[in-house]
Amino acid sequence: MLVRMNAEATADQIGAMRKHLRSLGYETRRVSIFDEPVYSALPEDDAQPVKVDAIEGCAALIPASPTALVSRATRPQGTRVRVGGVEIGGDEFVVVAGPCSVESLDQLLETALSVRAAGAHLLRGGAYKPRTSTYSFQGLAKKGLQMLAEVRERTGLGIITEVIGPEDVALVAEYADMLQVGARNMQNFPLLKKLGKIGKPVLLKRGAGNTLDEWLSAAEYIVARGNDQVVLCERGIRTFETYTRNTLDISAVAAIHELSHLPIMVDPSHATGKRSLIESGARAALASGADGMCVEVHVRPDESVSDRDQALSPEAFDRIMKGLRPIASAIGRTMSHHPAWELSATPAAVTV
Ligand code: PEP
Ligand code: MN
Repeated sequence: MLVRMNAEATADQIGAMRKHLRSLGYETRRVSIFDEPVYSALPEDDAQPVKVDAIEGCAALIPASPTALVSRATRPQGTRVRVGGVEIGGDEFVVVAGPCSVESLDQLLETALSVRAAGAHLLRGGAYKPRTSTYSFQGLAKKGLQMLAEVRERTGLGIITEVIGPEDVALVAEYADMLQVGARNMQNFPLLKKLGKIGKPVLLKRGAGNTLDEWLSAAEYIVARGNDQVVLCERGIRTFETYTRNTLDISAVAAIHELSHLPIMVDPSHATGKRSLIESGARAALASGADGMCVEVHVRPDESVSDRDQALSPEAFDRIMKGLRPIASAIGRTMSHHPAWELSATPAAVTV
């Protein structure tokens, strides 16, 4: 439910409303999407019915659909999300690139310099990895976060990294410019609730088995708690096809633009799982109106400890970026370089 207070409601009335709703079992959060004083009322255990006339200064209690705040109608002009000096959701086709996992400082720095030179805007790399096998490498955790922060210092690239549990949110938020929720966690509701209360943008990947409606309902968990800086990422869904790792649902891009004001990116790496197919997925993403893409690149792809088959070399990534530029100009999107892109792509010469 949403609680719309009168435009002239006093701070005391708002305080009293929140106290009253708390006593009935609701958490209330100011909804940043509206200029007017609108609050989400989020039921916790044992929430009781609420009556509008019991709240002084209340204009209306509005029953909310599961996607009320993320729907296009709520903000027809679209949402822009600012991360590490770039804006996602405007004219720029924002490119996030980097290794699947942070493996070492050298691996991360060399990869970062090469993707920056090719035109990437942001660096990705997992420090907490959600691996299918419990015997596989699970990520460098805090050490990985420290490496990401160091590479941000040395390259100027903002960093995006995954958080896999609610208990890690505070730590990951100390280091990251944007926190990624992976496909396996799209409906990890305690995690989404935590992410709604941090002042950092969130990249919400689509679950491999989830509908658009379930995906948007998951985004609503974050937005309803006061954080409207959410970007969606289509990364392929499970179908009967086995040749590709997943099936890139390219129609999700236009459908999400129709249904929601949140920006959407595409991850052609996890969608296809094969180096040879990533370029075509990237082109389709840009041509279909995605606000950006996330791609896995490794300075030595064959040494990748995770997702090796889909790791692009810096040279392959550079070729793909060059091929995207004419498409971007044909459809009125920009692909500008990071301010430091012309600096050397070798670690020895890093000056930024
Ligand atoms: C990743 O980005 O490395 C990842 C694990 O992706 P997904 O959650 O889409 O599988
Ligand atoms: Mn990966």
